[in-house]
Amino acid sequence: MRSCNLPSGSAIPVFGLGTWRMGENGKRRAVELDALKYGLDLGYPMIDTAEMYGEGGAEEIVGDALSGRTSRPYIVSKVYPHNATRSGTIAACERSLKRMRIDRIDLYLLHWRGGARIEETFEAFHRLRDAGKIADFGVSNFDVDDMEDAARLDKGLNGSNQVLYCLSRRGPEFDLLPWMRKRSIPLMAYSPLDQGGLLRKASLQKLADEVGCTPAQLALAWLLAQPGVVTIPKSASRDRVKENFGALDVKLSPQLLAELDRAFPPPKGKQPLEML
Ligand code: NDP
Repeated sequence: MRSCNLPSGSAIPVFGLGTWRMGENGKRRAVELDALKYGLDLGYPMIDTAEMYGEGGAEEIVGDALSGRTSRPYIVSKVYPHNATRSGTIAACERSLKRMRIDRIDLYLLHWRGGARIEETFEAFHRLRDAGKIADFGVSNFDVDDMEDAARLDKGLNGSNQVLYCLSRRGPEFDLLPWMRKRSIPLMAYSPLDQGGLLRKASLQKLADEVGCTPAQLALAWLLAQPGVVTIPKSASRDRVKENFGALDVKLSPQLLAELDRAFPPPKGKQPLEML
C-alpha cells in the first residue's frame, strides 16, 4: 500500500476506514464491528476515529476490532476542541488509548479549532509525543489562515490536516492543498463520497461506466490520484467496504481525469473551507 511522509519523516498510509456514526446505537454495533474487522482482514492499513464519534463508542468498537490481531493498523484519533487545553488534551488522549486498548495513537488531531489556545494544545501534543503516547500530531478543519497560525508556533508545523475534500467539494485545491504540499504535509480527505451524496450524480455514474468501476471507486480513485492526499471512506457494510477497497486498483487515464474536471470543475478562486 502506498503511503505519504509526514514532516516528521514517518509514513501514513494513503487509505483507511472512517468511523463517524459508529458506536452511536447498540443495535448497529455488531454490524459496525463486523465491517471494521472485515476491512482489516482485507488489508485496510488505517482507521480514523475520534473521541466525539458515539461519545467514545466508536473508539470502543475500534478496540474490539483490534483485539487479538498480531499486527495493528495505523490509528488516527482526535481530541474535542473543548478538551484541548494543556491538561485536557492529555487526559482525553489517555481515555482514547484506554477505550481502544492500545498504548500509542499514530496520529492525534485537534478535531477543529475551538476555544482552547492552540499553543496549549500543541504543548500537550509535544508532551504526549515525548511520553510515547502518540507518534505524530496534527489538526482538522484548519483553513490556510489557521495553518499559518499553527506554523508560527514553536514546533508548530504539524503532521496533517484532515478536511472535507472530494470531487464535489474541491475548494481546498485553490490554496490549502498547495500550501500543505509546499510544506510536505499530507491532506486527509474526509467525507470522500460526500457522505453518499456524490454517488447520486449522473455524471459520475457515466464516467464510472466508462472506466468499468463503480461511482464510489471512481470518487476514491480520483482522490488517491492527487499527490499528498490520504482518504478514509466509512462504511458499515461488508459489501461496500470491499467495493471501496477496490478503488486502489482503479487506474485513471489523463483523458478521464480531464473529463472529471469538466464534470466537477476545480475552484477558480478562494472558497472558505467547508466543514461537516
Ligand atoms: P463518506 O463520504 O465516507 O460516506 C459515508 C456514507 O456513504 C455512509 O452513509 C455509507 O453508508 C455510505 N457509503 C460508503 N461506501 C459506499 C458505497 N460504496 N456505496 C454507497 N454508499 C456508500 O462520509 P463520512 O462523513 O463518514 O467521512 C469518512 C470519514 O471521515 C468519517 O467516517 C470520519 O472518520 C472522517 N470525518 C472527519 C471529519 C472531521 O471533522 N475531521 C468530519 C467528517 C468525517 P454505509 O455505512 O451504510 O455503507
